[in-house]
Amino acid sequence: STVYLNGQFILASDAKISPMDRGFLFGDGIYEVIPSYQGRFVGFEPHITRLHSGLSQLSIHHGKTLADWTEICQSLLNHNRAQLGNNLAVYIQVSRGTDTKRNHAFPLNISPTIFAYAFAIAAEPVPDKAKAHTYNVITGNDLRWQRCHIKSTSLLGNVLHYQQGVEQGAHEILLFDRDGNLTEGAAVNVFVIKNGEIATPPLSNKLLPGITRLLLLQILRQHSTLNVVERDISFEEVMAADEIWLTSSSKEIAPVLKVNDTPVGNGEVGDIWLAAQRLFSAHKYD
Ligand code: PLP
Repeated sequence: STVYLNGQFILASDAKISPMDRGFLFGDGIYEVIPSYQGRFVGFEPHITRLHSGLSQLSIHHGKTLADWTEICQSLLNHNRAQLGNNLAVYIQVSRGTDTKRNHAFPLNISPTIFAYAFAIAAEPVPDKAKAHTYNVITGNDLRWQRCHIKSTSLLGNVLHYQQGVEQGAHEILLFDRDGNLTEGAAVNVFVIKNGEIATPPLSNKLLPGITRLLLLQILRQHSTLNVVERDISFEEVMAADEIWLTSSSKEIAPVLKVNDTPVGNGEVGDIWLAAQRLFSAHKYD
């Protein structure tokens, strides 16, 4: 495949990054994953806004504009569509760059390493109960750092939580902070539905401001009369929910059927999920 590295489109097999890159040594970088179907990106602008926000919080100066990213990402689709198909996500990673020695302090006068590549993703999710990809999850204490709002490439905290789920035969893990409130999953945001109320935890340093979360909230508020709130959600509320959804760029809205082996609601894909995924599918490119 063809990838983008520091201003050039080259074969993946020719792409080389120094082991002295701070992305490798420290996880000192920011990343994004932007999905596209049939050449159209979902949420392109908010993804780039979040990328720029993360880079600015780390004082990584890159000089790229929305137009630059659009050109890079569209070119990656064009270069790779024939080989990889029409459902492609673009992964972008910007690290602080390559230093001559390993030193915690930000080096002066280095330029960031900018890498992007396209990879094939599953078919576009559809609002059809029979075709929904469903998930079983476990729960756990959120042991990550207190900067979870930054989409950092330092993902060890998330990786260890995800693996906890895998080792217990689950697909994801719902995480709870020290006050017992839901934060998010290892790689997803979470929505909890009860008596017609659709709730998700409010944005804070405890969770990633997911773009799917953002688009879903906007779409539901603009195009439905469903009751949508951002508020704290307790463990008890999670266990008593009618429906639970996981959201992410690759999953869109995914129903959870079991938490810790307990069925969620009636244990089937819910009616409110169907309504929400229908609205999301209809408006995600608006
Ligand atoms: N939370 C975490 C920790 C994530 O890694 C992700 C994305 O992979 C999400 C939430 C969902 O974010 P988005 O909808 O922007 O993909």
